[in-house]
Amino acid sequence: MKPKLQRGLSACLFRALLLLLGCLPGALPAATVGNGVAQYVVHISADGLGGVFLRDYLAQYPEEFPSFIRLWREGAGTFNARCDYNISVTEPNHTSILTGRPVLQQPTNVLFSAPHGFDDNYDPGPPATLHNMGNLEVPYKASVFDVTHDHGLRTAFFAGKDKFALFIRSYDVINGAPDTVGEDNGANKMDVASIIDYGTPDFSVQENSSNLVSQVAETLGTNPPRYLFLHLADLDIMGHWYGWGSGMYRYGLQHLDLQLARILAVIDAHPLLAGRTAIVLTADHGGGDRVGSHVYADAPTVYTIPLVIWGPGVSPGLDLYSCFGNRWDPGTQYLDYNAPRQPLHNGDSGNLALKLLGLPTIPGSCLIPVFVPRLNQAITNQGLEISWQPVEGAFVLEQSETAHPGTWIPISGVSITQDHLRRVYQTPIVPAQTSQFFRLIQAP
Ligand SMILES: [Zn+2]
Repeated sequence: MKPKLQRGLSACLFRALLLLLGCLPGALPAATVGNGVAQYVVHISADGLGGVFLRDYLAQYPEEFPSFIRLWREGAGTFNARCDYNISVTEPNHTSILTGRPVLQQPTNVLFSAPHGFDDNYDPGPPATLHNMGNLEVPYKASVFDVTHDHGLRTAFFAGKDKFALFIRSYDVINGAPDTVGEDNGANKMDVASIIDYGTPDFSVQENSSNLVSQVAETLGTNPPRYLFLHLADLDIMGHWYGWGSGMYRYGLQHLDLQLARILAVIDAHPLLAGRTAIVLTADHGGGDRVGSHVYADAPTVYTIPLVIWGPGVSPGLDLYSCFGNRWDPGTQYLDYNAPRQPLHNGDSGNLALKLLGLPTIPGSCLIPVFVPRLNQAITNQGLEISWQPVEGAFVLEQSETAHPGTWIPISGVSITQDHLRRVYQTPIVPAQTSQFFRLIQAP
């Protein structure tokens, strides 16, 4: 249960409703985001950005990281998402981020079947693709780029390591699947693709990072793609050379914050992008166990990564976990894909980006976070009607007479009617001067 955050949103929507209905006492929708409210998505993977380190830095040195502070303050975030359960290196986790599939199959795994199976951390070069390696039972591993491109949206891919050429090649005009959705936009899923390898951790890392983000800024500023993926390698390189949590790692994060500031500035200033652009930011893995390493997938500082969504429709300051019916904050646990209460994974972020754009999920993907459904209200002859669309995951409707702090009482399932289209709760309209608040929360 996450009452605090839901309350805040209920109150906010309540005020809007009073305005709309001329102060009619009423009922209020609970938290929801997504549903295609963003016209543009910038999907960022900060290589090697550990959630534990980021959380502690933002708490101790907030003035050093204004962009990250802004994303968490204005968006919905967590420092406690997870990299893949089995494998905590770069290429396999980025394959998960782009395809919405876990890396490996677990013996008894039912929910998260059909892994991508690519567990090497390098690009073997042509003709290797994600499709002719890894899990060959999946002959084509569709990606977030397939869905965006095939729906006629312009896409772009920017990366800071040469081995990311594997991803460009896997979805190019030769290896990309035919576009069978609507108009044929061709097989090449990436309209813009660019790599600047960051190299070794001398000053060129920051310079290359800045140059890559200059390309991003120029692309966004001139002909903005509807979906842009950006891989920033700064922290991984600083972590490997100087250690995760070292002074140089923190310096690397400051530089990363500056790059985010540049991207945010472009969004803020652009007439098409401002107010219409969402950012989804995560990491492939953390690190620091052992100091300059991130190969141990069962180490807390390695498997703990951030995930934040920011932009239109995203309520400020929410715990990201409160937005979903099928994801639960795991605390410090190291949970496999059989755990009944799944944490957020970086592999969820591709489908999150699509959801924000109002697009379907990645074909064949199984890492699919389900947003808490939006509550609708209507006045009928029977009184007040609260309804929502049933989705995967169990939710409980709760009621309170006040939003702050609110005494939330679950409404029994018996009084809720349902068909395949919606669930409905009917209640008399309360007398004037009093209010009813409603929210959906994850079933305990
Ligand atoms: Zn990495």
